[in-house]
Amino acid sequence: MPGVQRLKAISENMEKWRSKSSLAAREVTLIAVSKTHPAEALIPLIEAGHRVFCENRVQEAAEKWPALRERYPDIELHLIGSLQTNKVKDALALFDVIHTVDRPSLVDAIAKERSRHAGRCGHFLVQVNTGEEPQKGGVKPEELEELMRYTDTHASCFTVSGLMCVPPAGVPPAPHFALLHTIAHGMNLPYLSMGMSGDYETAIRFGATHIRVGTAIFGERDL
Ligand SMILES: *Cc1c(COP(=O)(O)O)cnc(C)c1O
Repeated sequence: MPGVQRLKAISENMEKWRSKSSLAAREVTLIAVSKTHPAEALIPLIEAGHRVFCENRVQEAAEKWPALRERYPDIELHLIGSLQTNKVKDALALFDVIHTVDRPSLVDAIAKERSRHAGRCGHFLVQVNTGEEPQKGGVKPEELEELMRYTDTHASCFTVSGLMCVPPAGVPPAPHFALLHTIAHGMNLPYLSMGMSGDYETAIRFGATHIRVGTAIFGERDL
């Protein structure tokens, strides 16, 4: 099935799950995960009306998206991969939403760059390492409050709009989504980025506002 048809099938499935759950968000945005896929693979989706994409690497996004944006200025681009402080300037110019704020040094780098340039980026999400996996980015749940306080006091030029998580592989994701939902609700944060190809239905049941789907749209990645 071509990507455009899969995208349509996923959108219909999303609505089905959304309407079934009392925790579900009023609106759920499907972010197409375009990492590793060349521009040619994305154009059919854009031509069919899809506008929201995400990448996990700043460099790859910088190579791919400026030319596409010239043709399609209303593209919305999200960053879902870890962000090094030396890439903050480029990231703020490229992305509309950054999902991976996870440490004070990154908060400082974003604040410093934004005080010079408003940039494009309007929304920042904190990544929470709900499974406390050492190899994964994200702040530990018990350190989240401290990072939020740090952001409030050290970075007056931006606010946190929500939370993001990637549950550990091979375990049921529902407890992780439930935890993120509870924390975000308690902090009054409107955005919840959770759910990928294998678990987006569950994420929608637990209140995801943004799901990040790659494989289910484009097929398996080569890289
Ligand atoms: C690659 C990636 C996705 C998409 O995963 P699929 O299983 O291909 O849908 C979602 N979120 C993050 C953070 C990713 O790195």
